[in-house]
Amino acid sequence: MAERYLNYIGGNWNTPSQGEFFSKYNPANIHEVIGEFPNSTTEDAESAIESAAAALSGWAGLSSHVRGEYLRKAADVMESRLLEIATGLMKEEGKSLPEAKGETMRAIVILRYFATQTMLPDGDVIPSAGATTFLYSRRIPVGVVSLITPWNFPVAIPIWKAAPALACGNTVVMKPSELSPLTAVRIAECFEQAGLPSGVFNVIHGHGARFGETLATHKKVSAISFTGSAKTGKVISGWASAHGKKYQLEMGGKNAAVVLADASFDQAVNLTIQGAYKSAGEKCTATSRVIVQKEIYDKFAAALVEKTSALTIGPGDSDAYLGPVITVEARDRILSAIQSGVSTGSALLCGGKVPESAFLADGCYILPTVFGDVDPKSSLAQDEIFGPVLCLIKAEDFDDAVAILNDVEFGLSASLFTQSLSASMQFADKAQAGMIRINGETAGVEPQAPFGGVKASSSWSREQGLAARDFFTQIKTVSIDLPA
Ligand code: NAD
Repeated sequence: MAERYLNYIGGNWNTPSQGEFFSKYNPANIHEVIGEFPNSTTEDAESAIESAAAALSGWAGLSSHVRGEYLRKAADVMESRLLEIATGLMKEEGKSLPEAKGETMRAIVILRYFATQTMLPDGDVIPSAGATTFLYSRRIPVGVVSLITPWNFPVAIPIWKAAPALACGNTVVMKPSELSPLTAVRIAECFEQAGLPSGVFNVIHGHGARFGETLATHKKVSAISFTGSAKTGKVISGWASAHGKKYQLEMGGKNAAVVLADASFDQAVNLTIQGAYKSAGEKCTATSRVIVQKEIYDKFAAALVEKTSALTIGPGDSDAYLGPVITVEARDRILSAIQSGVSTGSALLCGGKVPESAFLADGCYILPTVFGDVDPKSSLAQDEIFGPVLCLIKAEDFDDAVAILNDVEFGLSASLFTQSLSASMQFADKAQAGMIRINGETAGVEPQAPFGGVKASSSWSREQGLAARDFFTQIKTVSIDLPA
């Protein structure tokens, strides 16, 4: 029988209240169960929230330097367990081992980065109208925060929420995706091994629809930080705003790379492929459209198809370029989007089906897929597919390319390939996206820089960098006068 894992509540490993568990399989081989995880209920969520609330004043009352030390210790523990964590992540999520290691290393860097943030000024001294009045403002924690996270970056995203939340003095209840529960167990173990006080960080597993409302509306929860689909984000923001909670949502994308005729050709082709197919296209910032200036469209399409067709596909511990998608349901949903692209007239240039190899028959694989001459208004070019599918779109010129780029509901990331400084500057101004890269792939983030989207990709706030403090703190203004 597969190993059974528990919820982490109040510093203890607890069986879920109704004793139910769910199994999680390896997407590279759906017959391999990697563990059984608690199918939690509202009762478990309430218990985790009560634990976080009980720990709040002690944690918030520590010096921020001491909180930073706990984050540093957690980073050291995570680093000492890097290979183990990355291997588990690869098995539950499907990305390659080098990518899983890179993501775990990124989480370690994030912990260290937010540890250093605890030594930054946390307020302002403000000149007062009164000659002897000392007027200042100070950032204070918001309280208990719920973190609801997706499966596609199961260590980096939870840590990029938890690290600033903890650094700022909040206590945390985290609900990882039911599709990536093992890595969440490892995160809780790292905080436990680092000696984090009981109740400061709690993890409850299971299906959001079962107890998500409690996480968003409980009277002892002050804020909710969510990353996932736009559909779930809307539900969460509805609950949160109805109950006066602070919330932040980071959601989907339909990210495009624009390639101008003067681009460095090989760089543009290679980075488009990297952006589209690494992690099987399951990054919120993955390149799902490439908009190419008409003068080089045919040459670009030919090179793209030739190189994409040569990409290797296989399990994360092989040396394949891309692995499986997350579940059988995701594979079928992506195949159905491909089918509908074909039936509505887009040209399937390569891929578009499951690989024929018997070796891959038990995994959730889809060949890297390119569609050509895609109508920018079609659902293929408008809807997030979240898989290894790339739409090639022809543009007349720079202005046309930017208009196509912006004509989608999402606005997460965008990139431009060009030699022109003037086009680069105009693109940075005109592209409707929260993250812009010039001569770089659409995917990729650095923890010290703000991260997030515009339009339907986000709820206006930003994660990471100094911006993370804006969500995880509130500001108190204090005025002190001399006694009469
Ligand atoms: P999802 O919305 O299905 O699930 C995200 C989380 O919400 C999971 O933990 C899930 O259990 C939970 N959830 C689901 N229904 C819920 C409910 N009714 N109440 C409370 N919680 C609920 O998304 P996903 O499939 O895990 O992730 C893929 C999506 O996430 C894609 O759209 C992708 O673009 C997006 N994403 C965005 C970013 C970003 O930073 N913008 C990063 C990664 C992924």
